[in-house]
Amino acid sequence: MGSPSKPYHRSMNTWHNNPTLTRLNRFLITALTSTLFASAWAGGAKGSLDSETMTLPVRVFLAKSEVSNKINCTMSEEDLAEVFTVVNENWAPANIHWSLESVQELRVEPNVAHEYQESLKTNPRRANMKVLIDSFPNDQRLSKGFNVFIVESMGKGAGGVFRPKPYGDVIYAHQSPRGFAVPAILAHELGHALSLPHTVFEKNNNLMMGSAPGRKPTRVKPLTASQIHLARIQAKQGKPFSPKFYKSPSPKKTLFAKLDVNSDGTLTAAENGEAHQGFVRNLLRQASRAPHESLTKDEFDLMQMRRNRNQQGSGSNGRRVGPSIDSIFAKGDANQDGKLSRDEASGQIPPRNFAMSDKDEDGFITKEDILATRKRFGLNVEGFRIQSRPE
Ligand SMILES: [Zn+2]
Repeated sequence: MGSPSKPYHRSMNTWHNNPTLTRLNRFLITALTSTLFASAWAGGAKGSLDSETMTLPVRVFLAKSEVSNKINCTMSEEDLAEVFTVVNENWAPANIHWSLESVQELRVEPNVAHEYQESLKTNPRRANMKVLIDSFPNDQRLSKGFNVFIVESMGKGAGGVFRPKPYGDVIYAHQSPRGFAVPAILAHELGHALSLPHTVFEKNNNLMMGSAPGRKPTRVKPLTASQIHLARIQAKQGKPFSPKFYKSPSPKKTLFAKLDVNSDGTLTAAENGEAHQGFVRNLLRQASRAPHESLTKDEFDLMQMRRNRNQQGSGSNGRRVGPSIDSIFAKGDANQDGKLSRDEASGQIPPRNFAMSDKDEDGFITKEDILATRKRFGLNVEGFRIQSRPE
């Protein structure tokens, strides 16, 4: 599907009340016609919402900075149009159409830009998104719609992020970790904004696959009927997903039995009373299932296993980036004296990291020394990222 040649109507707009926003080009989108996608509706999800096209407004902020080339977004009008063309191709099967409400330049304060840039120097795999997001002016966000902030690069670790709290912002990098634009990443982040989690069961290069092996950088990626159903529930609200906490009605061990009220080995929302509806529907959502669908005991167990693994490492979405310190010692500490010499550590800990950990320079490092170094890089004793990695 090619992009229409002139999707923009340009007009000028000035924000008076915020010094960080300069005079802006405001591109009003007449319409990337929605009927274009009408025929692509897969439809048919059981108990589905109606299948008419939903048009969701997006306000785009292009980050600008003189001091950080990682922030300063070089995206052209044509680039942006192409990105949204691809995003809409990805969302066509859901009959969800993302419509650019306006495009604005967002001038990032030099100190913020500097800190962001520095964070990428010390840790190329992880940009300090918080400093950036905290600096975005709240009152310029589109309140009835979606907001996408575009920076030039987020380093090697990510090409996009969805921050559910406090505003439900999507941040996208013009240059993906691969060094060029991958608009499917924005389609993925918008999926998070429509309540979709990373897939647990679906492979098939699904749009919402996390960083699992088998994910291929194709232009368009599939969504399941269940995901489409879930996304449309959120889309109806016209604003980004905001996660709620639901108290578990039972300890982990007995949770499935408790919620499988009719004891048929599958869990549904329908068999549960009002009190547990929120919890069960949220559980189903985490499995990329619609509220009318079900979860088997095996699927439930797999989800619990995955959650436990993540919680060992972090809050959620922890990613193992190294071996556990115990396993390093199990392999390396031949004489079991609780310390590793350079020789013992070789092959497991790069010489540079060894030197960093060996604070007293006695040629030995302890578990505590390694942990101290890991903490500086945001890793824990198990080798997972400590802070939950934004999705
Ligand atoms: Zn994600």
